[in-house]
Amino acid sequence: MTTPSTTTIATADGETSADRLGRTLMHEHLVIGYPGWESHTSVPKASAEDEIAICVDRIQELQDLGYSSLLDPCPNDLGRDVELAAKVAQKTGFQIILATGLYKQAEGGVPYWHFRSNFAPQVDPMAELFIAELTEGIGESGIKAGIIKVATGIGEISEYERTILLAAAKASAETGAPITTHTDDGSLGDHQQRILTEAGVPAHRIIIGHSCGTDDHDYHMGLARGGSYLGFDRFGIDAIFPDEKRVSSLAKMIRAGAGDRLVVSHDSVWCWKGQPFPPGVLENFGGDAFDPTFFERKIIPKLRDAGISAEEIERLVVDNPRRFFEGEKLATLA
Ligand SMILES: [Zn+2]
Repeated sequence: MTTPSTTTIATADGETSADRLGRTLMHEHLVIGYPGWESHTSVPKASAEDEIAICVDRIQELQDLGYSSLLDPCPNDLGRDVELAAKVAQKTGFQIILATGLYKQAEGGVPYWHFRSNFAPQVDPMAELFIAELTEGIGESGIKAGIIKVATGIGEISEYERTILLAAAKASAETGAPITTHTDDGSLGDHQQRILTEAGVPAHRIIIGHSCGTDDHDYHMGLARGGSYLGFDRFGIDAIFPDEKRVSSLAKMIRAGAGDRLVVSHDSVWCWKGQPFPPGVLENFGGDAFDPTFFERKIIPKLRDAGISAEEIERLVVDNPRRFFEGEKLATLA
């Protein structure tokens, strides 16, 4: 039996609660702009109206499929646009959860924080920023973040990325907010989990994102046994890692008993600031890339073919997001 949730979650348009999330995609983006996009002034800027229209269209497609919520874990330094999210939420009634946080060393807003670090350590100032955005609001908007985003790159976690992880842990301890992460190539999630839990974050308050960038079952099970959620959240981006392997490794996790700690999504991006992909590049990603309906239309049938029940699939999109935001503790996994 589940008791009604009292956990409130900040969205782009007011508060909701975990039990009102419904079908939820846990990693999609209304807009992304890599730091420095402003310098590319020769690329025409989309109007706010055009961006709203694009996002509303995508959301209506999701609503037609029975979805009612998404998490847009765009960090502060990646073109986050909370006013856009608020307008889209108001027009559609869709629940959009926003993030506070900072992106990885290679593609984040590093110079600013690096400059500040010449004078003082930055863990506390970053934590104060995250706490302010979670409890008071983002800038002057009055819109609060509902989760903290952290990110790491390839090879090893840099000092800068570690600073962000420690700041996120501090902000999470202070506010109770959960954390979602970016990993590259399905790697270093175990390091993220260790740094965050050693800094006091309960493992079940963490989603190790982009875990579907590898089909290393031992890596996956290590994270699951560590008690965190895993994001299989890049369905459709076959150009980075084959969807076929995402499906088979997800099915393998469910068969191994980890179906209660997996969330799904596409990491789709609906509007770009600047032109991060030179002409012709995105076309090679294939038609399913960045389509937030892809899991529902094309992946669910493949999971069914792999012997995964409708109930197990429903758990991925309804129960697991709810339990994650509620902060329900996960059972010990054999
Ligand atoms: Zn993303």
